[in-house]
Amino acid sequence: MAFSRSISVSFFIFILFAVLINPAISSRVSSFIKLPVTVHESRSSSVASYCESWRLSVETNNAGSWKVVPSKCVSSLETYYNRGQFDKDYNVVANYALAFAKTIKIGGDGKDAWVFDIDETLLSNLEYYKANGYGSVPYNSKTFNEWVVQGTAPGFDASLKLFNGLKKLGFTIILLTGRDEAQRSITEKNLLDAGYSGWEHLLLRGDEDQGKAAAQYKSEQRSRMVKKGFKLHGNTGDQWSDLQGFAVADRSFKVPNPMYFIA
Ligand SMILES: [Mg+2]
Repeated sequence: MAFSRSISVSFFIFILFAVLINPAISSRVSSFIKLPVTVHESRSSSVASYCESWRLSVETNNAGSWKVVPSKCVSSLETYYNRGQFDKDYNVVANYALAFAKTIKIGGDGKDAWVFDIDETLLSNLEYYKANGYGSVPYNSKTFNEWVVQGTAPGFDASLKLFNGLKKLGFTIILLTGRDEAQRSITEKNLLDAGYSGWEHLLLRGDEDQGKAAAQYKSEQRSRMVKKGFKLHGNTGDQWSDLQGFAVADRSFKVPNPMYFIA
């Protein structure tokens, strides 16, 4: 009798084990038996989820003016850049911009223009921002300008594709940056080293532009170009202040940048 009971218990344990190691069955079991999830996993996935929503809000400008990246989102941004999602996002933007550009009938008078911002649009300062908390620490103009004058910022694959594609289609390229006139030669050298060439205008902040909000300064510069007869078909920039204001281009293409906001 005891022997028989022992066989029954062994058989039951065997069946239970077989059920639990069968993935199809164990997944059903886990769907109605709430398996314990560690607090750490749960919290980190909820932070990651919040940071995805935060990034969407800053990209769409729903966040409006913001100062620094929330410290809890630094590792999400690290993942965003280091695992290639940023490059994929920018590539999609470039493809839409090129698809639009192909619909424009180029007049042949050199007046069909496309405007590009420079920082985080043509040149990547990611190396600087990686060393400065991915935008989670307040902007420091001194250290940033020290980085800029090194002139070592690389281009993006997506922006090089867009820039060269637009030139091939016959667009005149206008570069419009918030950098100072004093940084003209290092900026030109950096752009050439990064693979860009053949732009028609490089517009930088002069003495008269100091202190102006970016959207005002950039709108005034675009307006001057329009008065020179340029048709601004497209504008590509990583800040809403690159794209909004007056004398706006027919189409604006926002490059992702969740690291900083310029009013
Ligand atoms: Mg920029």
